[in-house]
Amino acid sequence: MRIGVLGGTFDPVHRGHIHLAREAKEKLRLDKILFVPAYLAPNKKAKKNEISPAHFRLKMLKLAIAGIPKLKISYFELKKKRVVYTVETLKALCKRYPRDQFYLLTGADNILGLHHWKSFDTILRLCHFVVAKRPEFRSLAAEERKKFIWLAMRPLKISSTDIRKKIREGKSVSRLLPDRVAGFIKQNRLYQQGKGA
Ligand code: ATP
Ligand code: MG
Repeated sequence: MRIGVLGGTFDPVHRGHIHLAREAKEKLRLDKILFVPAYLAPNKKAKKNEISPAHFRLKMLKLAIAGIPKLKISYFELKKKRVVYTVETLKALCKRYPRDQFYLLTGADNILGLHHWKSFDTILRLCHFVVAKRPEFRSLAAEERKKFIWLAMRPLKISSTDIRKKIREGKSVSRLLPDRVAGFIKQNRLYQQGKGA
């Protein structure tokens, strides 16, 4: 099987994530996409960037992918209850499913900090590294396209950071989120004050 792996904090999951998953599924002919929510984010340690409790983020993910074929959740990182680097997740997946091929799905913001990724060379050996266009982030240079698969998709200008900020400012975010996620955020009054960046 060809399996897409989409890691993130999903705080909250938004239409950009779903768009990326759907486009990758179609264009790379993936059999399944695993959303891998992080328990803690390695690069988001600062206090003011603290992420929401895992149970909220997980619930929103479940609501977002419900009913969409081939989109699934992996609990691997959540279960560890600590920071898990991508390389560890990929190693575990490859060990468990040795006959499958993995496609790591990322947005173009990630390629700016690739030299910070733990064991980046190992990651490249374990999977196909897919980079998707994201507004305001550069695309790949010709040289880099050899290492990565460039996913040409209509970019959506949506980020969780922007959604959290808009909610704090009392602005509408419903068009940026799956309806059920927007409803859940309202019901539980998430992101209303002082939380997130
Ligand atoms: P934050 O602003 O909190 O970092 P985010 O919107 O970047 O949130 P993450 O959970 O960090 O969401 O993202 C998980 C993965 O999805 C990352 O690889 C990220 O680049 C990618 N991604 C997020 N939003 C988009 C988007 N609009 N288009 C393409 N890729 C995206
Ligand atoms: Mg991000």
